[in-house]
Amino acid sequence: MAQPQHLYDTYNRTPFAVARGEGVWLYDEDGQAFLDFGSGIAVNVLGHAHPKLVDAVKRQAEKLWHTSNLYRIPGQERVADMLVAHTFAEKVFFTNSGAEALECAIKTARRYHHAKGDHQRTRIITFDGAFHGRTLATISAAGNAKYMEGFAPHMDGFDHLPFGDHDALKAAINEQTAAILVEPVQGEGGLRDLPGQCLTGLRTLCDEHGILLIYDEVQCGVGRTGKLFAYQHAADAQPDIMAIAKALGGGFPVGACLANAEAASGMQLGSHGSTYGGNPLAMAVCEAVLETVTEDGFLEHVEDMALRLKQGLASLIDRYPDVFDGVRGKGLLTGLKCVAANTEVLQALYAEHMLAVPAGDNVLRILPPLNATAEEIAEAVSRLDNAARAVRAAKAA
Ligand code: PLP
Repeated sequence: MAQPQHLYDTYNRTPFAVARGEGVWLYDEDGQAFLDFGSGIAVNVLGHAHPKLVDAVKRQAEKLWHTSNLYRIPGQERVADMLVAHTFAEKVFFTNSGAEALECAIKTARRYHHAKGDHQRTRIITFDGAFHGRTLATISAAGNAKYMEGFAPHMDGFDHLPFGDHDALKAAINEQTAAILVEPVQGEGGLRDLPGQCLTGLRTLCDEHGILLIYDEVQCGVGRTGKLFAYQHAADAQPDIMAIAKALGGGFPVGACLANAEAASGMQLGSHGSTYGGNPLAMAVCEAVLETVTEDGFLEHVEDMALRLKQGLASLIDRYPDVFDGVRGKGLLTGLKCVAANTEVLQALYAEHMLAVPAGDNVLRILPPLNATAEEIAEAVSRLDNAARAVRAAKAA
């Protein structure tokens, strides 16, 4: 497939070029409509061109775009207040992306122990199948060989453990351990959901050892699982530090590192910074996103749509056992484990003018905007049905 000549060849891009979007629909340059159940990889939380977000950007664009963090930015303080009001957090640092939010989380954890005089506590435990971003620190944190190849020397300081192996975890914690870093629901890794009792168990373990619990909710946060944050499904499983991004800006590049006051206590004057992080434009959109997803009934709608989608997918799995194997994930962070290659299913879906996103472990991510309607969910299931039929026919041919 022809790829753009002057862009890095790091993506296998679709042949169609996107031009505009409206709600769940994405239009290409020829005006063809695609049902967008990829949401820019769990970003377009309110679909495309949501009037409230468009209005927020327009109004802010006429007032003030950027100043730097040398000055107080009222929007930043308001968004931090909202995040604090709805989570465990007491302190917030804004970034431009998920990977930077993770970088801040890692620095916050190390610096916490350093400030307490525990200079040897620098190592962070992470798990197989994790994805934390593409910076040098975050590829080392996840430890996925596919993303690390050719980028040596790798960053030291991460201990990688098998997913869900409690005994291995207990044995791995030692006097050098600073923190445990985990996605409550793995996104790129294949929509693996960490059961609530495991998160609670991690919290207890961290308390017993005086180490910090860090969640990566870059993909599963901001309403996607039916709670504002995925950890809120579990009892007594609050983290000390949490990285978020993606849906937080509804499509505007922004991320944040949240922490309780104790965990953030090492991050003092001059210990971290960002030119753009939390700039007024980004904050105007974040405020509008957070106002919307915390409105009464919004998260109930997510749960309701998730149930409808799961029921639709379950019927497809029954009818196409040669194509689909099972449903994974939580809320509208939905994964369809495939029997056929997920990339083949994705190509068939493109032919049906529907977008989804492949994930690890041969899973296809179905990530509608969280305000998608029951009719739009039904339309997606119908297009998936057609795609499955096409995949089956291609196999038989
Ligand atoms: N963490 C998780 C769980 C992610 O899914 C991603 C991106 O997909 C990241 C971190 C990195 O975010 P970004 O691509 O914004 O740097």
